[in-house]
Amino acid sequence: MAILGATGSIGRQTLDVIDRNPDRFTVFGLASRSTPIDRPARFVATLERDGAERLEEMVTHPDCDLVVVAISGSAALRPTLAALGAGKAVAIATKEVLVMAGELVMQLAGPDPWSRLRPVDSEHSAIWQCLWGESPDSVRRIVLTASGGPFWGRPGADLNEATVEQALAHPRWRMGPKVTIDSATLMNKGLELIEAHHLFRTPLDRIEVAVHPQSVIHSMVEFVDGSIKAQLGSPDMRLPIAVALSYPERLPAAVPATDLIGAFPLELHRLDPTRFPAVELARQAAAAGRGYPAVLNAANEEAVELFLRSRIRLPDIVALVADCLDAFPGCGPDLDEIIAADRWARDRIKAANLG
Ligand code: MG
Repeated sequence: MAILGATGSIGRQTLDVIDRNPDRFTVFGLASRSTPIDRPARFVATLERDGAERLEEMVTHPDCDLVVVAISGSAALRPTLAALGAGKAVAIATKEVLVMAGELVMQLAGPDPWSRLRPVDSEHSAIWQCLWGESPDSVRRIVLTASGGPFWGRPGADLNEATVEQALAHPRWRMGPKVTIDSATLMNKGLELIEAHHLFRTPLDRIEVAVHPQSVIHSMVEFVDGSIKAQLGSPDMRLPIAVALSYPERLPAAVPATDLIGAFPLELHRLDPTRFPAVELARQAAAAGRGYPAVLNAANEEAVELFLRSRIRLPDIVALVADCLDAFPGCGPDLDEIIAADRWARDRIKAANLG
């Protein structure tokens, strides 16, 4: 297999799963954005030095069967489309790919998408596992669970005063800074809502978000007869990674056993859309289509970067994204137009925040 984003959090955990199962998996290629790769592989590439073509060459190579896409942001888009186009299985951790180009990706994944396009995001892996053996017509709704991030449990805290350090202190998951800030604003859940809408071909009004601070229920599916299935486990990304790598089999002892009784009591809460408007903003962008999800994603990436450099306050992130969506005129469905929409949003945020 090939791993795009081999030096990041998901990439390193993927290598851990591979190293513990040497009879089953072989590393063919490793790629990163800029961090040097200090592990031997047949094919090694760094996006900033070798260019996107080299990554596409890696993922379409005849000796590569499965591609783990974990390189952050829009840089993952073209290699993912290339891998799917070449008939490879793709384990997708980069939610931006489905947010930006969900229609294109699902077209390439074909009529039986989940054997080829396997979610690695913990919530989507949970939904996927709940859907195994089920008919799409049986689904009434999807319930995406959200940890709520570091500020959910502090309803009195003024988000305008939130520091970078506080926002980076996620209570449950250890992740990279971008997704951790997205968890603090709940934009992560907004992006995941769009991701679920495409992956599971589920209408937006049939996907709900519930806050679940323990992060043990990874998501749920309700069926037409009223039955609800949930997937549970300790918050450990190696499980959804293992599920995606070994599908349709299960990998023995992929993660330590969950202490289920110790994990209780489990709570579920309704999301407060006034304090955390990102989910509804994402739902509106997804409903609008025409490049709006790409603008949402790109504006958010740039705004998160500004927050990490202490240039704006935490609530400004979602406000800047909303401004960008308001100003965007919409675009067509082609990849080039989506990439231009992404660029437009980035330039707009940067131009407004110079100096
Ligand atoms: Mg997630």
